[in-house]
Amino acid sequence: PKTAYLRTKPHLNIGTMGHVDHGKTTLTAAITKVLSERGSGTFVPFDRIDRAPEEARRGITINIAHVEYETDTRHYAHVDMPGHADYVKNMVTGAAQLDGAILVVSALDGVMPQTAEHVLLARQVGVDHLVVALNKADAGDEELTDLVELEVRDLLDRHGYPGSEVPVVRVSGLRALEGDPRWTEAVQGLLDAVDTYVPMPERYVDAPFLLPVENVLTITGRGTVVTGAVERGTVRVGDRVEVLGAGVETVVTGVETFGKPMESAQAGDNVALLLRGVARDAVRRGHVVAAPGSVTPRRRFTARVYLLPGREGGRGTPVVTGYRPQFYLRTADVVGDIDLGEAAVARPGETVTLTVELGREVPLEPGLGFAVREGGRTVGAGTVQEVLG
Ligand code: GDP
Ligand code: MG
Repeated sequence: PKTAYLRTKPHLNIGTMGHVDHGKTTLTAAITKVLSERGSGTFVPFDRIDRAPEEARRGITINIAHVEYETDTRHYAHVDMPGHADYVKNMVTGAAQLDGAILVVSALDGVMPQTAEHVLLARQVGVDHLVVALNKADAGDEELTDLVELEVRDLLDRHGYPGSEVPVVRVSGLRALEGDPRWTEAVQGLLDAVDTYVPMPERYVDAPFLLPVENVLTITGRGTVVTGAVERGTVRVGDRVEVLGAGVETVVTGVETFGKPMESAQAGDNVALLLRGVARDAVRRGHVVAAPGSVTPRRRFTARVYLLPGREGGRGTPVVTGYRPQFYLRTADVVGDIDLGEAAVARPGETVTLTVELGREVPLEPGLGFAVREGGRTVGAGTVQEVLG
């Protein structure tokens, strides 16, 4: 039998973000190496992180690696993704689940377009605490690194983060991975900053259970399994749940985290739930598993939306009433019509209030963050204000 997961430390979900090639995966591997040497976790080599299994969902292929580790005070689930598109598709919408993130910026290259886009999106979906890893500090000269630090703090300020307070730690993922003591200590310093700067989020453990489905798998002989992060509430074996989107009600017959069975899972946990008698094809990414009757899916809402300027990857032209982009809400990807009301037109770079009518019903609530996508790129990010029906 598998050993059960023991909840001995508070659990947080974090991840690396930042521009391609700035060293996110190397740093992720280095973190697991540094901690494994201190006896708290398993070393996950670069190749195992970078070659995360591809998950094809409705024509969208997403790569995501989950690793877990423990510091002295906390248990972390950490996500890393290989490509910018993977971040936008998944981290962006899944970022609602991130309690904090490590923004990796190469000390050699400084702020690049994807650095800015990830900061913007993190802000929009409510990742309130970032810690900056100024990576490749082994290769950069000190004066240039100082300038990059100023540039990053300025970027954070411009997106509503306290740029002067955010910890900026100079690291070398590569040298730490090679066992260099100076840089091993620097990675430890980065983890200390994450431990102290990213607060334990308020977990809505007493609320009715809700889990946005990230992935669906079949375990031969056992049935259909859904995976994702518990957004609120708790779930245990034997609980009745409904799968919104699939229109089925069922019973949870197994709860696991990182392959270990758990008695109950709670808000913030990354879990796999085994569902009794549910066909593999009935459930998809984007569906929501919830306590029966606790949420009603809706189609219409008002929202505040920031339209990315062209230099941040947004549109070159204004949007008008009748515009129909894709909305990424939790893990769902739904087309929607926008109505700008009297304004009728909104330009890239503006933040506007608008009404959205989705192509299908999804669970909605005020404060829910989402991304707006068009032709494979993010053109806006927003927050639900009022649910209309
Ligand atoms: P990612 O795309 O952000 O995940 O970046 P990778 O982790 O794949 O690293 C990209 C490249 O930068 C690789 O060639 C790494 O060896 C190199 N690299 C990563 N971290 C460091 C570092 O701390 N110092 C130096 N000098 N190179 C690094
Ligand atoms: Mg990578």
